[in-house]
Amino acid sequence: MDTVYFDHAATTPVDERVLEAMTPYFTEHYGNANSPHQSGNNAKVAVEEARETIAEIIGAAPAEIIFTSGGTESDNTAIKGAVNATGKSDIITSPLEHHAVLHTAEAVKRNGVRPRYIEADSDGIIKPEQVKEAINADTALVSLMHVNNEIGTINPIKEIGEICTEYKVPFHSDTVQSVGKIPVDVDELGIDFLSISGHKIYGPKGIGVLYMRHGTPWLPWMHGGSQERRRRGGTLNVPGIIGLAKAMELVVDQMDDHRKKFEKLRSRLVNGLEEKFGDRCQINGDSEQRVPHIINISFIDPAGEGLDGEMLLLNLDVEGICVSNGSACTSGAMEPSHVLDGIGLDEKTANSSIRISLGKDNTAEEIDYFLDKIEVVVNRMMSTAEA
Ligand SMILES: *Cc1c(COP(=O)(O)O)cnc(C)c1O
Repeated sequence: MDTVYFDHAATTPVDERVLEAMTPYFTEHYGNANSPHQSGNNAKVAVEEARETIAEIIGAAPAEIIFTSGGTESDNTAIKGAVNATGKSDIITSPLEHHAVLHTAEAVKRNGVRPRYIEADSDGIIKPEQVKEAINADTALVSLMHVNNEIGTINPIKEIGEICTEYKVPFHSDTVQSVGKIPVDVDELGIDFLSISGHKIYGPKGIGVLYMRHGTPWLPWMHGGSQERRRRGGTLNVPGIIGLAKAMELVVDQMDDHRKKFEKLRSRLVNGLEEKFGDRCQINGDSEQRVPHIINISFIDPAGEGLDGEMLLLNLDVEGICVSNGSACTSGAMEPSHVLDGIGLDEKTANSSIRISLGKDNTAEEIDYFLDKIEVVVNRMMSTAEA
């Protein structure tokens, strides 16, 4: 079997149709979208069409769409821009956010901002009442993600959005993992800022969107030319923008089919794991409020200790299977993932976890191949652990 790629929450391959849409903008319509001549105009027209496509998909106006270099830049831009504009000193977020939000919230401490973190239970879901309790007169921004990239849980964004609207606090949501997987409409969800990344939805790397609701207090931090209505300087990534719009169009069109497919593959996987390992494996995060394609699993040996997830990942890699694991190598030491730590997993259980994230082209045969291989690998590791 060729490589089995189960790491779509890390990145996805570019869809052929996306690549096809992008290619002419590298070679033929290569003009600078800001140039007043024909070549520039061709690029500009295509960019504005892409902007309209994306705006329509999320229920926004085209002028509320800013193109960025990806999810990380969009998260930074929303948080720093909102904090600088309001002069208030309080950001509400959660320890389960992506590092693009968490490390930005820590960085703005230098400007006297105080990030406050809403804790999650073992289900990994932030409750709207917690947000209500946390908001005060000094709150510049609430930033809470839609779908968690490590455990696949879905936050109740609509209810949180209603609270933010009621208290007139700007609300940012990192929707990098939810766009194309579940419906995302900025009015329906009450979102003022939203982040999208191209490469998580079969688009190119290095392109993203920041949606910003008209009238929301915000200041730019990327200064340069007059691009994006002076909100984000820099020559537009025309092929990237065309690719992102095409990718969004495709994933949203196919969303229902993909979800049905992921539910089937997930059942096959989860049933197979339960059959092979019983309660020696546990799936992390809420079992209902979740997307089907992200599955985070810890493996516990007979002595009740977590297996070494890093070793598990490497052993699967030898078999041609790509997954990700629940720990990160920070300055030479293995640190449990902040998300698994945030839902109360002890260090050993967190370090014993792997994340499987399915994509639209995965098959039942690949799940079966994975189940065969993981049985061999885990049993070998458990018997060495016993010896
Ligand atoms: C991947 C990811 C990001 C970062 O997006 P980039 O385009 O890679 O910068 C941010 N948030 C979440 C939830 C992600 O999964």
